[in-house]
Amino acid sequence: MNNTTSNQNALKIYCDLFGHNYEVSKKVTSHVKEYTCKCCKKQLTTNSNGNLTELTPKYREINRLLEDFYNRRMVYLKNKTFVSQLTNC
Ligand SMILES: [Zn+2]
Repeated sequence: MNNTTSNQNALKIYCDLFGHNYEVSKKVTSHVKEYTCKCCKKQLTTNSNGNLTELTPKYREINRLLEDFYNRRMVYLKNKTFVSQLTNC
């Protein structure tokens, strides 16, 4: 009937027994990453304490803002370096 659901349940049992098989699914900043379990697709993220926590919609939103902020800062720093290189010439 619904094979996908029963497969996921089987994988969940596997994860409960042997632990999740996380891989980095997204790099938010140099310190914050999102992880997805290869088996059951459970998602984790690094919280503000540097610990891993479940990736809830709230954390997803925080990460989105963090990523935006981080990228802007990187662009700013790159531009700053570029400008200082120009003025040094
Ligand atoms: Zn898992």
